[in-house]
Amino acid sequence: MNDAPRRLDPTMDPKSAAIILGCEPRQIGPCARCQGLTIRYGGKAEPICRACRAAENAAAST
Ligand SMILES: [Zn+2]
Repeated sequence: MNDAPRRLDPTMDPKSAAIILGCEPRQIGPCARCQGLTIRYGGKAEPICRACRAAENAAAST
């Protein structure tokens, strides 16, 4: 099973990214690491995107 989060390309519509990430379009911004779209602003901000964090976790567990 491979449910690793995919990086959201910066050219993607913020509205589409917001739907995928479950936040408001105004909260969308670039990942601090890969520039992919993430929840960059607001109370539940994730400055490092899910794809980068998943890659980090995978690297840490090997
Ligand atoms: Zn990233």
